[in-house]
Amino acid sequence: MLLTISTDHEPATDLGFLLHKHPERFQTFDLSFGKAHVFYPQVDGQHCTAALLLDVDPVGMVRGKSRDQSFLLGHYVNDRPFVASSFMSTAISKVFGSAMSGKCKDRPELVTTPIPLTAQIDVLPVRGGEGFVHRMFEPLGYQVEATRHPLDERFPEWGESPYFSVTISGTTTLSDLLTHLYVLIPVFDNAKHYFVGDDEIEKLLAKGEGWLAQHPEKEQITRRYLGNRMSLVREALARLVEEESPEVANEQPKAQQQEDALEKPMSLNEQRHGAVLAALRGSGARTVLDLGCGEGKLLRELIADRQFEQVVGLDVSIRSLEAAQKRLKLDRLPEHKAERIKLIHGSLIYRDKRLEGFDAAALIEVIEHLDPPRLASLERVLFEFARPKTVVLTTPNREYNVTWELLPAGKFRHPDHRFEWTRAEFREWANRVADKNGYSVRFLNVGPEDQALGSPTQLGVFERA
Ligand code: SAH
Repeated sequence: MLLTISTDHEPATDLGFLLHKHPERFQTFDLSFGKAHVFYPQVDGQHCTAALLLDVDPVGMVRGKSRDQSFLLGHYVNDRPFVASSFMSTAISKVFGSAMSGKCKDRPELVTTPIPLTAQIDVLPVRGGEGFVHRMFEPLGYQVEATRHPLDERFPEWGESPYFSVTISGTTTLSDLLTHLYVLIPVFDNAKHYFVGDDEIEKLLAKGEGWLAQHPEKEQITRRYLGNRMSLVREALARLVEEESPEVANEQPKAQQQEDALEKPMSLNEQRHGAVLAALRGSGARTVLDLGCGEGKLLRELIADRQFEQVVGLDVSIRSLEAAQKRLKLDRLPEHKAERIKLIHGSLIYRDKRLEGFDAAALIEVIEHLDPPRLASLERVLFEFARPKTVVLTTPNREYNVTWELLPAGKFRHPDHRFEWTRAEFREWANRVADKNGYSVRFLNVGPEDQALGSPTQLGVFERA
């Protein structure tokens, strides 16, 4: 089975940078089910095509694994070596993982620039006919061409096969294209080669960020992706709250340093955590969520205080969670401490049962990382579903930015910030959310106060009525 990705973006060789694969090399990768080869059938200034060829070894896959003796022939004689299936998704994530997550060390600006891209999949087994191919890709902005193959060209009377050659084209980022293929290829096939466990929900929601919740076929996609395990499907659909989706908030260490440097002279970060801790202590909370916990600075202070019997840190960024795990020395903590703290991976845009039943939640400098429509999902996830008794939330006060010499006028403190609010804007938002969900809210200033501009950080304490 073959997947090719082409572009006529100039210079077309940018594709090599984006894929992290040199156009002049033929590379082979060992995977558990066979081999993946990457090569470029065409490279010139105007046009570049990269190919991912899978060489699935059905015999090797079965050897030593199967205890099920009932239908051995089916293990050896099947279409797996020839069709694009969940093996292709595995190969995409193993071979083009960095490209899929939008990383490009040498040319970072390329990652976010939509370019004309075409992907051709040979061949795709489609349960649901040609219409299904269109319904999957067109809502994502692709033009679709699908050609059905007869079962056997020499025997037309045998009719059509379920196999298609599919070409999709659009102007998009390579990362989005690979993500869409990763999720959707196994959906066509409706037969996953591996056991679908609970962590598949997290994978689907993570990869579906930004598009799955709005996709008109989200139910089919979810059902098939999760191998028809209805309990998982229900949970996943319940978590696709509203018509929004989350953020792959990739940690940006450099950007974070920039924000830290800017704010450092007054160690605003420490003042912020101090103010949040005081509010949490004052609320009498015993169980606390740190939502968007980042590298776990607040968590460390929370577990140092015995008032907090259960502390859970959640973040969408795996890298941040790994950093938090290190910072907290989780593997070396004495047992009585270790059992009070848990780190979980998740996104605040999805309804999540694990967040229910807590006394308090802290969201420190998190909301400004979300696009406004996604913020609307977060509001529901937090105030309508998780409903902690107390929410302590901070966000920058944009009015204060003019006092920072280092910050060019009109810029945000952190390149990943989607907005920074004035005091009036924050209050309006907070009052609206509180009113809608049966909370009251009061406001505090954090950091040195300027008479005209307020303080650099604004803090809201929401209490459930
Ligand atoms: N609260 C920490 C980190 C703030 S930076 C502190 O005060 O130091 C913002 C954090 O929010 C990042 O770690 C980012 O990964 C996380 N984040 C962004 N969008 C998120 C989402 N949708 N769900 C969960 N976490 C998110």
